[in-house]
Amino acid sequence: MSRFFSEKYSNLIPYTPGEQPREIESYIKLNTNESPFPPALKAQQYTEEAAEKMRLYPDPEYKALRESFAALNGLDMKNVLPGNGSDEILNLAFMAFCDQKNTAVFPDITYGFYEVFAEVNGIPFEKIPLKEDFSVDEADYCGINKTVFIANPNAPTGISMSRSKIERILESNPDNVIVIDEAYVDFGGESCVPLIEKYSNLLVTQTFSKSRSMAGARLGFAIGCEELINDLNTIRYSLNPYNVNGMTAAAGIGSIKSNNETLANCEETIRTRAYTACELKKLGFVMTESSTNFLFAAHPSFDGEFLYKELKKRKILVRHFNNPRIRDYNRITVGSRKQMETLIEVLTGIIAGN
Ligand SMILES: *Cc1c(COP(=O)(O)O)cnc(C)c1O
Repeated sequence: MSRFFSEKYSNLIPYTPGEQPREIESYIKLNTNESPFPPALKAQQYTEEAAEKMRLYPDPEYKALRESFAALNGLDMKNVLPGNGSDEILNLAFMAFCDQKNTAVFPDITYGFYEVFAEVNGIPFEKIPLKEDFSVDEADYCGINKTVFIANPNAPTGISMSRSKIERILESNPDNVIVIDEAYVDFGGESCVPLIEKYSNLLVTQTFSKSRSMAGARLGFAIGCEELINDLNTIRYSLNPYNVNGMTAAAGIGSIKSNNETLANCEETIRTRAYTACELKKLGFVMTESSTNFLFAAHPSFDGEFLYKELKKRKILVRHFNNPRIRDYNRITVGSRKQMETLIEVLTGIIAGN
């Protein structure tokens, strides 16, 4: 830390992203929930066309992209706002809807960025333990009078929550915003987007990073009633009106035009997830019920960190978290069928002591 660093950040613990090794081609990378499929061809073509126009600033209202994404969801463009990944949208939501009075609340085991966004913005927060089986108990959040952040399906547990349970949280907290992070919803979750018109306190976030194979492009969305979107815009125009670059905005439209590719890729991932879960069970692993593109798995006879390290030695990266409650587990991205076959083969060897 330099002697110039602002005191208000001196205790800040930043988010730790999953490893992105330099010799990436030599690894089977199952640690950051990226898609094994290429982005839609149209997304790539539109990117190239937009690159020719990079001399110009993008449209700060992102009208074409918003129309396209709103139409996909049967909404009006006033209900959607693009961000530089959904991470940016989540930070805007912390800034816009939390303060000393409306403090933040989220599960103890969830996306690590929520705590970091609360810290960096000086927002007091509370963490509510997940149930013993790692599911969210909606009763914990009913009438809580705080700004609620819930990833649904949750990460790294992979467990999804029904829309009706989330409705109970929305109904019992009419004076607080409830943020539902749907980063993994395309892999089997129940989306809350159909509730947008019914609840003025609901903000949904989605991302193009996982199901749409665009993690490197950085594109996410906020979905909510017009007033909530306007509030996020007030913050966005105070930070960076050009928060999404022109190439990415164009790629997003291309991806939406090829929506059937995304649907087919998600179906393939769901099939591969079932295959992998079945094989891991045969090896003795225990897992949560995943509605995502990853599995959260522990082995009764092997330490989670040991398995992480042994896999890494054999050029397979998975994600291990040092949090005591989930130390036995690893989060394993569902890659291609071939990658998962290799994973099972390698794990079989490690478990046999080879
Ligand atoms: C990956 C992820 C995000 C953010 O992804 P972006 O790449 O910033 O869109 C948000 N929430 C959860 C739970 C995630 O796993």
